[in-house]
Amino acid sequence: MKVRLGIDLGGTSIKIGVVDEKYRIVYKQSIPTDADSKSFSEIVKNMALAAQAAAEAAGYDIKDFPCVGIGSPSYINPHTGLLVFFNNTNWRNVPLRQELQKYIPVPVFIGNDANCAVVGEALAGSAKGYDNVLMLTLGTGIGSGLIINGKLYCGADGMGAELGHTTFVYGGEACTCGRKGCYESYASVSALIRQTKDAMRSAPDSLMHGVSEEQGNKVTGRTAFDAAKMGDEAALRVVDRYIDYVASGISGFVNIFRPDIVLIGGGISSEGDYLLKPLNEKTLRCVLAGDIIGAPPVIAAKLGNDAGIIGAAYQDMML
Ligand SMILES: [Zn+2]
Repeated sequence: MKVRLGIDLGGTSIKIGVVDEKYRIVYKQSIPTDADSKSFSEIVKNMALAAQAAAEAAGYDIKDFPCVGIGSPSYINPHTGLLVFFNNTNWRNVPLRQELQKYIPVPVFIGNDANCAVVGEALAGSAKGYDNVLMLTLGTGIGSGLIINGKLYCGADGMGAELGHTTFVYGGEACTCGRKGCYESYASVSALIRQTKDAMRSAPDSLMHGVSEEQGNKVTGRTAFDAAKMGDEAALRVVDRYIDYVASGISGFVNIFRPDIVLIGGGISSEGDYLLKPLNEKTLRCVLAGDIIGAPPVIAAKLGNDAGIIGAAYQDMML
């Protein structure tokens, strides 16, 4: 049977999907992670029970699946099965695969969520048909996934391809990882929000203030984009500089990997051409010998959160 089960283990919720042989999610459910109140082993047990229940709700028994796959926004060693570090829960070196196998009678694969997302997009989304793919998910941080020659690349110990933590500015902005100047400290949505707030402080007349009020007095990843679309100069500068940052990082990765295609995931990809057109132009300008050999297209991912579930379920196919 080719139907699989994929799990997205996040800090606030655990999403479970039954995925058919055409990579469509035929059944999906979500349970709270309860990371504050439950222990690691309780959470794993709840996840396994919910997985069994999801399989049954979709008309299957979990033992009929060839395997079960899990993706998580954490540092994971797919070889040892250890979840090495998960900052949402403070778990360190917990035996995720071993603990799950107490309840799940088929092989369990575990992987980083950004790696699962690029597998999902390669199987069923925007990267379908391409053998060399770089995907960056711009969100709180930057998740990255790499497919090289049709295989997921994650380094000798399975924990590489963390492109968001490439040093972008030596001694630069503090990163959540404890280091300084990482790419994600400049090009994530959190960084965009910081850049927007800085610009709002020095431009009291900017339309960004009104946009923020309309967004519930919050500054979000959309605040500067929305004000820029109204022609606000301070917002246009924020957006232009932010896209410079994103493009500059992408061009460095293109120089290393020369993928067929670059995918942008995360809510910001819904900005469409407003983001992607200048991003492609700037990437082409920054990339090595771009005027002679060009640059791969930078396009939006299209499966959203489903990519992580689909890719988790089928991650073994690209190892
Ligand atoms: Zn970092």
